[in-house]
Amino acid sequence: MTLQARYADVPVETKQRLFDEVKADLRFRDTLYGCYECGICVAACPSARFYDFSPRKIAQAAAREDLGIFYEQLNDDIWNCSQCFSCLRCPRGNNPGGLITIMREVAINNGLASARQALEGYGRVVYKIMSTGTQVSPDMLQPNAFPDWGPHVAEISENLLLWRRALPPETLHTTSTAWEVTDRTLTELYLIWHMTGVMDMIKEVDAGLHMILVDVMEELLEDAGYAAD
Ligand code: SF4
Ligand code: SF4
Repeated sequence: MTLQARYADVPVETKQRLFDEVKADLRFRDTLYGCYECGICVAACPSARFYDFSPRKIAQAAAREDLGIFYEQLNDDIWNCSQCFSCLRCPRGNNPGGLITIMREVAINNGLASARQALEGYGRVVYKIMSTGTQVSPDMLQPNAFPDWGPHVAEISENLLLWRRALPPETLHTTSTAWEVTDRTLTELYLIWHMTGVMDMIKEVDAGLHMILVDVMEELLEDAGYAAD
């Protein structure tokens, strides 16, 4: 079965509505200025080396308003992008990675099952980033979590505090967060995630994670005079 046949049962009106939603995004017009079909974005794209994936095809489907291919990409291809933006070297000024960012948001906001499935394994990472306001933390570097990283991970995890203490900036002497973040910065981040719809997107893909995050953010937001939900 071809991919196109896979989504043939989805009404064209649905595909059109989702495409229009992508196109209506304010950022859309800065992602697409036509395409030379030169393939420079493909040559620069790390994901194109390892997956059946092409930023050129993403740009072209959107430029041609090809709803069938767009819908396939909305469900499948966009989750192969690593959002590195190497494709910004496009001579036409296109930004296929940025276009994919918009498509991902539309896929999530519309509760596509493919989006939920693609993001299923990232709950722990999203929790860590959003609760601490930093990134994955050093103490997540455990041999059972990353067996493919080799035996040196075990050595690092055993002496983690020592390694961290060896770093010159004191703000990096932490293990449960990547660096120290003040309550004021955390409050600002929590507010940004609430007000820009990020929390609604989390709720759409993982209601349990959303509940936990609301709980974590509640105290700081209430101290700042905002309701957490
Ligand atoms: S942002 Fe995505 S499409 Fe662009 S180069 Fe990186 S992986 Fe490829
Ligand atoms: S680099 Fe730009 S112009 Fe060339 S194929 Fe990619 S999107 Fe099209």
